Amino acid sequence: MSTKEDVLIVEDSPAIGMLLKSYLEKLDYTKIHTCDTGSVAIKTFNDLVSENKQPIVLLDYMLPDMDARSVLTQMLEIQPNARVILETATEKEDEGIKELIRLGVYQYLEKPIRFEKLKETIETIEKEQSFFAKESEQVEMLKEAEQQAEEKLFEQINFILKSANQITLNKIIGILGFSDDSISDYLQKLQQEGKIIELGEKKELACNQCDSVRTSQIFYCPSCKSTNFRLGKLIECYDCGNISEESTYENDVCPSCKKEIKALGVDYRVMQNHYICNECKDFFPEISTEYMCLKCEHKFKLEDAHWRSSVNYKVTNM
Ligand SMILES: [Zn+2]
Ligand SMILES: [Zn+2]
Ligand SMILES: [Zn+2]
Repeated sequence: MSTKEDVLIVEDSPAIGMLLKSYLEKLDYTKIHTCDTGSVAIKTFNDLVSENKQPIVLLDYMLPDMDARSVLTQMLEIQPNARVILETATEKEDEGIKELIRLGVYQYLEKPIRFEKLKETIETIEKEQSFFAKESEQVEMLKEAEQQAEEKLFEQINFILKSANQITLNKIIGILGFSDDSISDYLQKLQQEGKIIELGEKKELACNQCDSVRTSQIFYCPSCKSTNFRLGKLIECYDCGNISEESTYENDVCPSCKKEIKALGVDYRVMQNHYICNECKDFFPEISTEYMCLKCEHKFKLEDAHWRSSVNYKVTNM
C-alpha cells in the first residue's frame, strides 16, 4: 500500500510541470495534481484538504494570475501547517523570497531544479511526517493510559463507598493516597446520580505529623505497653487482699490464703470488666489508648491529635 501523499504542482510552464511530475513518479508518488494557475491551485488544494489530505505543494514563484505570496497565504489559511515548497530562479536573499520564507514557506528550491535537491526536500518532509505520526500515536497512547487510570480510580472510589455507610472526603483521599480534582468531580457525579448524599462537614481526628485522617486506635497495657490483654472478671478476697481472676478461685477457695469465700460483700467482691494483661499479668479498670497513623505510622495521644473537617457523604445506592 502506498502511503505517499498527494502532490500539488503549481507551475505555469508545462515543460517544467512535466519534468517535476516525472521526477516525483520516480520517487513513487502517484497522486500528482498539476495546476497552471494560482486560483486553480487554491481550489485543488482546498478540495484535497477537505478530503483530509495533506498535500505537498510545489509552488512556482512566478504565476500568470496571482503572485506566490497570495497563493501561499491562502493555502496557509486553509491548512495552517501546509507544506509549500517554493521554486524560484530568484535569489534567496531577495526581499520577496525572504518575506515568503517568513510567512511559512516550508522549503525553497532553486531553479533550475535539481532532482537530487527535490528528492532531499521531499524526504525531509516524509521524515517529519512519520515523526509527527509517531508523536500523535504517543499522544493517543498517553490519553488512553490516562483514561484507564481514571477508570481505575473511579472503580477504587466505588469500592471504598460500597464498603462504607458514611465516609468523609478526607477519608476517601486518605485511602486513595492522593488528592486530585477528579475525585471531587466524580463524587459530584455520583451525587447527581443519587448514589450518595452530602451530609455537610464532619470533623475527624488526624495525624499530628502528616495530617492523614487514616488512623487506627491502639489499646495497650498501661503498665508494660503490651497490646496483648483480655477483658475478665476479678475477685478480691477481703481477708488477705488477694485480687485475681475468678478462675483462680478454684472451688471458691482463695489461691493466696486458701480460705473459702462464701458471702459476696462480706468475704469478697467481684470486679467486673477489668483488663488483664497477658504479658505482665497486671490488671486495670481502664486500658491506655493512643492513635497510630496508617500513613506515616506515627503514634500520638488523643490530646495531641489534629482535627480536620471535610464533607461527609452518606452512601445510599452504590
Ligand atoms: Zn501520619
Ligand atoms: Zn502488661
Ligand atoms: Zn485470701
